[in-house]
Amino acid sequence: MIQTDVAIIGAGPVGLFAAFECGMLKLGSVLIDALDEVGGQCAALYPEKPIFDIPAHPSIEAGTLIAQLETQIAPFAPGRLLGRRVEALAGEAGHFELRTDKGDTVSARAVIIAAGAGAFGPNRPPLDGLASYEATGGVQYYVRRREDFRGRTVVIAGGGDSAVDWALQLKDVAAKTYVVHRRAKFRASPETASQLDRAAAQGEIEMVIPYQLHGLHGTDGTLEAVEVADLDGSTRLIPADRLLPFFGLSMDLGPIANWGLALDRHHLAVMHATCETSVPGIFAIGDVASYPGKLKLILQGFSEAAMAAHAIHPIARPGEALHFQYSTSKGVPA
Ligand SMILES: Cc1cc2nc3c(=O)[nH]c(=O)nc-3n(C[C@H](O)[C@H](O)[C@H](O)COP(=O)(O)OP(=O)(O)OC[C@H]3O[C@@H](n4cnc5c(N)ncnc54)[C@H](O)[C@@H]3O)c2cc1C
Repeated sequence: MIQTDVAIIGAGPVGLFAAFECGMLKLGSVLIDALDEVGGQCAALYPEKPIFDIPAHPSIEAGTLIAQLETQIAPFAPGRLLGRRVEALAGEAGHFELRTDKGDTVSARAVIIAAGAGAFGPNRPPLDGLASYEATGGVQYYVRRREDFRGRTVVIAGGGDSAVDWALQLKDVAAKTYVVHRRAKFRASPETASQLDRAAAQGEIEMVIPYQLHGLHGTDGTLEAVEVADLDGSTRLIPADRLLPFFGLSMDLGPIANWGLALDRHHLAVMHATCETSVPGIFAIGDVASYPGKLKLILQGFSEAAMAAHAIHPIARPGEALHFQYSTSKGVPA
């Protein structure tokens, strides 16, 4: 049994910063994550991508952001239970008990759920033999390292930000980059969509439009060609050894949906002022939280972490006055 003031479910960027905000209020915390490493989507999905909207960082790679957050929370030495999914949560404000799938039990005065998209997974295209190509890396849904695609012939499928961003990022390392989309209009931001148009006009990327994925060809899971079909069903073979389908992430809250918390379309409904859920003592922040005006941005999650930590203080330290202080006055432990 691990005892702490605040159990933080999810060690993505927002959960990590929550450990910092709790620490600043002298509240102990334990970070619990289903993944083996901290960092959530930043570490698992796009560690080498630059993020441009973190205040005071004109550009910072997602992996570097997570490393910096690790440095920032280090003085508070939050506990960690990684590679463990929280399955059960019971109790009331001041006395919660959490159980993981590995049998750990955590006792906490309050809980912060920073579970992002929950157990997130890619939306897979319905193609025959897909699993065998996934097993060899012929079909991948995330780019962990851009270098892995050096010299490859890459087919990127999809019309959103991920498809466009990765086409632009990989064109410089791949031998050849194709973008397959079912219509000429992309859902990506206007700026990146026009960068894609420019790259296509210069012959750096070949656009395959209007086509959809139709089949995979290869031997023993080694991808040799991607078959695409147009709206009339006419097919075309693109010789390629990597397919990156970017059809979004499916959202599955997993066990969290069964904990009796009010939901708002697969998210946890919270009061904006405190980020408290419908159950007193349980807070939700970051991508998993929903309230009017919510933006799924890391910077917004950081601010929610501060609000939740302040709202938790009277639960974890009843009767103890909390005087608001700037970090410049308080400092951090050596
Ligand atoms: C390609 C891409 C580009 C992006 N670019 C930007 C950008 O430029 N700027 C920006 O602000 N945002 C961007 N985002 C969004 C940003 O990554 C998310 O807003 C952010 O990761 C949310 O952080 P989080 O900590 O709330 O959740 P997550 O990062 O999703 O982390 C949640 C963690 O909770 C864990 N978890 C879930 N359920 C459980 C459970 N039951 N038990 C234990 N652990 C659990 C998961 O394993 C995960 O590690 C981008 C996202 C993507 C995919």
